Amino acid sequence: MQISSPSLAPARLVSHVHAQQPRVLVFGGAGFLGSHLCEKLLSQGKKVICADNFDTGRMENIAHLCGKSAFQFIRHDVVAPLAVEVDEIYNLASPASPPHYQADSIRTLKTNLFGAFNVLELARARGIKVFQASTSEVYGDPEVHPQPESYWGNVNPIGPRACYDEGKRGAETMFACFRAQHGVDTRMARIFNTYGPRMRPDDGRVVSNFVMQALCGENITIYGDGQQTRSFCFVDDLIDGFVKLMDAPSSNGEPINLGNPGEFTMLELAELVIGLTGSRSKITYRPLPVDDPRQRRPDITRAKDKLGWMPRIPLAEGLVTTIDYFDRYLTQAAPRAHVG
Ligand code: NAD
Ligand code: UDP
Repeated sequence: MQISSPSLAPARLVSHVHAQQPRVLVFGGAGFLGSHLCEKLLSQGKKVICADNFDTGRMENIAHLCGKSAFQFIRHDVVAPLAVEVDEIYNLASPASPPHYQADSIRTLKTNLFGAFNVLELARARGIKVFQASTSEVYGDPEVHPQPESYWGNVNPIGPRACYDEGKRGAETMFACFRAQHGVDTRMARIFNTYGPRMRPDDGRVVSNFVMQALCGENITIYGDGQQTRSFCFVDDLIDGFVKLMDAPSSNGEPINLGNPGEFTMLELAELVIGLTGSRSKITYRPLPVDDPRQRRPDITRAKDKLGWMPRIPLAEGLVTTIDYFDRYLTQAAPRAHVG
């Protein structure tokens, strides 16, 4: 599909033309969050073009969607421009787990910076809305707690997490510049730690590690003393927030925190997972990674006020669903990959 004639028409006009069945491009749609977003958009009667290079995503996340006439998959790297006729763009393309994004730090930076540029150029050419999956990592190791969007953060620009944190910060700047200079209708979500079915078993993030370890009776690996905190949002709640943000009649382009304010230490999380799985796993301690944030909790006042959004699913309930997903994965799969 090619863009027939680049248009600078405002987003409202283009949306009106395709009001019956808008076509939505989801970059990173074969990943954990992206696959849930594709499902949600299809359930709303939209046509979905899912673009992904399978860097961390998996065909099995979208295999059940591939037979649907409203769903199309394109194998594409967001680092290169893509010309498609769509009415909205969600940009989720980026590795998200620290081991994954640190494995090729230059590639992570390119994905986030060039990727943001390319989706914004497409949005500008077509006069359409574009959504950016930003992150709580823009706050780095925060000195303000909980974190409101007005906080500018505390990021080490040359540390091991910088390729991701600064890549996402640079992408936010790119979005702000395209909005200011070209009037692109931008939407930015700062996503806090999210978990749920379709995380990769070897993802390396804490929820998938702990659940896989508990189900396999392996030691639960706590990095550091386990007193660092995170706030965990269940994927369904988050995706609701994405769509509310994108569908809001207007936006001034300001970033909006999306996350669950319930705050847990990693030790509390480990104990909860052990309890819910009935596992005999023991807790073991490993060194804390460099620049690992000490605490993190979203201030979601803006999301409540502007979008009427708040998360509904408590951690224990979301974990039960997630544990069930990994349990079924283990039952179906051959010998599992090593995690931790
Ligand atoms: P994920 O790794 O499961 O999904 C990322 C997807 O992007 C994968 O399908 C991957 O193949 C694709 N991708 C990566 N590089 C690409 C490239 N160059 N071109 C095309 N596709 C590419 O991770 P996720 O948890 O689903 O995260 C999705 C987005 O949300 C990411 O941008 C991430 O930074 C952001 N985010 C996620 C969380 C979270 O807790 N899950 C928190 C903050 C931000
Ligand atoms: N973590 C842990 N054990 C693991 C994986 C992660 O204790 O097996 C810790 C990690 O050091 C961090 C927290 O859990 O303090 C969340 O890590 P994750 O990689 O999930 O997300 P992020 O650090 O990006 O918030």
